[in-house]
Amino acid sequence: MMASKWIVLMGVAGSGKGTQSEYLAKEQNFTVISVGELLRSNKDKVIDASGETIGHVITSGALLPDKVVLDLVKAELEKIENVASKNILFDGFPRTPGQAEALNKIAEGFGKQIDYVLRFVIDDAVVTKRIMGRYKCSKCGKIYNDYFLKPIKDGICDVCGGTEFDRRADDNEESLRMRLKEYHTTTVAVVDYYSKIGVLKEVNADADFESVKKSVIESLGLS
Ligand SMILES: [Zn+2]
Repeated sequence: MMASKWIVLMGVAGSGKGTQSEYLAKEQNFTVISVGELLRSNKDKVIDASGETIGHVITSGALLPDKVVLDLVKAELEKIENVASKNILFDGFPRTPGQAEALNKIAEGFGKQIDYVLRFVIDDAVVTKRIMGRYKCSKCGKIYNDYFLKPIKDGICDVCGGTEFDRRADDNEESLRMRLKEYHTTTVAVVDYYSKIGVLKEVNADADFESVKKSVIESLGLS
């Protein structure tokens, strides 16, 4: 039996990380630990003596103490039976070198290590087009993009013939620029950390799903 792999996926929203993460979960038996989801599902958990909750800290824009995040991750791993024999994928975490080091310690506690860190590399300009250009058919939900995937007949859905389309209201270019900037600022040190310990793999994410999937498979030594 092939040894289980514990990996970290790094990539900005719009890099295609989510789609590849779904693929790894469905086809390669990875259990995904998404810290964003963990925090949302534990938002009412009180984290200090003054009664502050995780949800409150998040909505106030403050940073959660590392310990809170790490304890949640550890508890989640403990829930998984024979976790050391399972493929685990950490998504949206770690965000700092300190968290990365702590994650190594947690993994060691289970007799494991972080085997690979996949970084989805893509230009901000491409991510911006992917996100800003995205819209969907109001009737059947088919997704289109102004830059990459237009309906064959302008303004008419290929699938259902619908003529109404929805765009997400929060896809504002200015806030997207801020988000990308913040992403790069916070992740550069983590990338550096994983590069130094020799587990970082870079995947060209500016390609179609199948090509990116191929790079992911190769980088992780899967088949
Ligand atoms: Zn449609």
